Amino acid sequence: MSAKTTNPKTTTATVTPHKIHEVVKYPDPVLAKPSEKVTEFTPELAEFVEEMFETMYAAQGIGLAAPQIAVSKQITVIDVSFKERPEDKIVLINPEIIDRTGKQIEEEGCLSLPDIREKVARASWVKVRAQNVKGEFFEVEGEELLSRALQHEIDHLHGILFLDHLSLLKRDLVKRRIKKLQKNGEW
Ligand SMILES: [Zn+2]
Repeated sequence: MSAKTTNPKTTTATVTPHKIHEVVKYPDPVLAKPSEKVTEFTPELAEFVEEMFETMYAAQGIGLAAPQIAVSKQITVIDVSFKERPEDKIVLINPEIIDRTGKQIEEEGCLSLPDIREKVARASWVKVRAQNVKGEFFEVEGEELLSRALQHEIDHLHGILFLDHLSLLKRDLVKRRIKKLQKNGEW
């Protein structure tokens, strides 16, 4: 998910030890494909998660799912505070929404759909069960923005984009806008 501010914070050119990946854009087929479960919890997985955080921050995002960097695995990272609060950094491996309630309709963006923002209806609160980088199960609850980020990122792991939640008419308009941008070499 992309940060709310369209005016990104200027990032200083510090050297990061973690690789930054390229974020793939809609309509790359990897975004529409359900991801595979993670079965091996290795040091390489922990490193990959760090790369995901670096990639997300570099792209000014508050959430990133592995398919967005062309890795079709059930891994997602979220930081709704964008580096402000370390405790907000969440790593979800093989996550599942186990409870949800309420409704919220807010504008959403996606790193794979740059500059497209549309209102999306989501549950206002969700509870998620997932594994951490060591393979240990845990639960996390979120409301408002965190709830939206959790739903948005977990959707990615099932090949679902926020576009898929829009009305047919709205989705068509957005798709036409993207086609136009592609034609002009701006996508
Ligand atoms: Zn997204």
